[in-house]
Amino acid sequence: MAANECLFCKIVLGDVPADIVHEDDQVLAFRDINPRAPIHILIIPKQHLESLASVADENRDLMGHMMLTTKKIARDEGLSQSGYRTVINIGADGGQTVNHLHLHLLGGRALRWPPG
Ligand code: AMP
Ligand code: ZN
Repeated sequence: MAANECLFCKIVLGDVPADIVHEDDQVLAFRDINPRAPIHILIIPKQHLESLASVADENRDLMGHMMLTTKKIARDEGLSQSGYRTVINIGADGGQTVNHLHLHLLGGRALRWPPG
């Protein structure tokens, strides 16, 4: 998919509205439109990467930054003590529906395991 047709690229550009909780030069984080938990935030790279399967060695710093940003957002959302979950869905069997890499941050209730 071309980046200019990608929903999450449109959110990065401000062409589609989102409830943004964090933005810096590399990543954007916003609340999921269909939350599966009391707190459900998506953390995405600003650059268009289709999925974790598209990530290369040159994206090492970006991926580290995404994880550390997720930890900070979880802390700011008050989840550090209660715990939370991070999920990256990849491809058809992984249940990926938006083909722009995104990390789900879920919390605010006890989450079941294993996922479906
Ligand atoms: P996935 O199934 O892992 O690809 O997750 C895609 C997520 O994007 C789902 O949880 C959707 O609810 C969420 N989503 C889709 N459109 C929007 C949107 N416009 N704003 C925020 N979240 C969205
Ligand atoms: Zn994109």
